[in-house]
Amino acid sequence: MTGPITCPECDGAGVEILGVLHLACRFCGGRGWVGGEHEPAEAGEGPPPVWEHGMWRDPMVSSVLKCRRCLGSGVVVSVDRAARRLARMPCSCRR
Ligand SMILES: [Zn+2]
Ligand SMILES: [Zn+2]
Repeated sequence: MTGPITCPECDGAGVEILGVLHLACRFCGGRGWVGGEHEPAEAGEGPPPVWEHGMWRDPMVSSVLKCRRCLGSGVVVSVDRAARRLARMPCSCRR
């Protein structure tokens, strides 16, 4: 059983900020929390549902995992405004 928790990606804001863009958080779908009755939709590819992991409730773990944007995958999704599509790019933590 996983109760609703504050979204680890947006810290409950429900919004991801990519430069000047404010997008609905892709982890929680803009709700600001995950778990319970609202399981995040699988992206098809990408990391497993780490947002359900109890490790996010541990401040020690949160301090160790510096990069919550890519969660260690090294890839982030950003918006290519010129092409009007989502683009996968290397995370800044891997550069
Ligand atoms: Zn979120
Ligand atoms: Zn990263």
